[in-house]
Amino acid sequence: MTVRTRFAPSPTGRLHLGHAMAAKVAHDLAREHTGEFLLRHEDIDATRVREAFYAGIEEDLRWLGFDWDGPAMRQSTRLTAYEMALERLQALGLVYPCFCSRREIEDEVAAMAVAPQGPEGPLYPGTCRALDLTQGLRKLENGQMPAWRLDARKALTLTGRLTFTDLRHGRVEVTPGLLGDVVLARKDIGTAYHLAVVVDDAFQAITHVTRGEDLLPATHVHRLLQEVLDLPQPVYLHHPLVHDAQGKRLAKRHDALAIAAMRESGMTSAAVLALLPDVRMA
Ligand code: GLU
Repeated sequence: MTVRTRFAPSPTGRLHLGHAMAAKVAHDLAREHTGEFLLRHEDIDATRVREAFYAGIEEDLRWLGFDWDGPAMRQSTRLTAYEMALERLQALGLVYPCFCSRREIEDEVAAMAVAPQGPEGPLYPGTCRALDLTQGLRKLENGQMPAWRLDARKALTLTGRLTFTDLRHGRVEVTPGLLGDVVLARKDIGTAYHLAVVVDDAFQAITHVTRGEDLLPATHVHRLLQEVLDLPQPVYLHHPLVHDAQGKRLAKRHDALAIAAMRESGMTSAAVLALLPDVRMA
């Protein structure tokens, strides 16, 4: 088996130290096994993407010494594949249309005595799960476009017990409802992170998905999606996040910690990489 990993940044900014960590873990794991390291631009959200960042990210990666195999893939070229996956989930009855605005969800959660909680805050309360066909059609006629949400409870009845293997955490039992009924297709772009990443990891035959520990909850959703979409399951490696000198997790956009800024300040790439934490496998 060829070990194949990927680094999947969004071209919405230049790379910072947290990205360097994710790239290093994916790159080193592939190279240690004489495998392949791929680059994927996660650019489905066209409103946030800027053209210059594709090249900027690639320049930062090369400067850090991480060469990838083959041309970088852009998710914006793969929308048909995501659409097909969504259609399959629709046919299985595992997604439902949701017309709620962010504001409506917040109001509903605030009005609940006990709102369901996830690791990142309140979960979607399931409002549109109960929408019947007539109500849905009326909203469509009014010109409202729906998002599509995973019916996590229903998906569970199809799959039964699931686990995934993580090189640091060992075997992890999947909690399919951990993030609740997540959005799998946004109303504005027709897909969303969870669906696109699962479809592409399978398409690119990624054997080892490496990513920051902050995405551990997302992996529970991804295992569920792999199972219902008949996709192979990769091995996972959720790596530690980079913290600043005060022990606080780095903010995503911390200008001083942009790789390009450190480079301009005269740091060598070896000095930048020396700031990254070690990864100890289980
Ligand atoms: N694009 C995601 C991010 O930058 C990472 C994707 C993944 O590893 O699943 O956080």
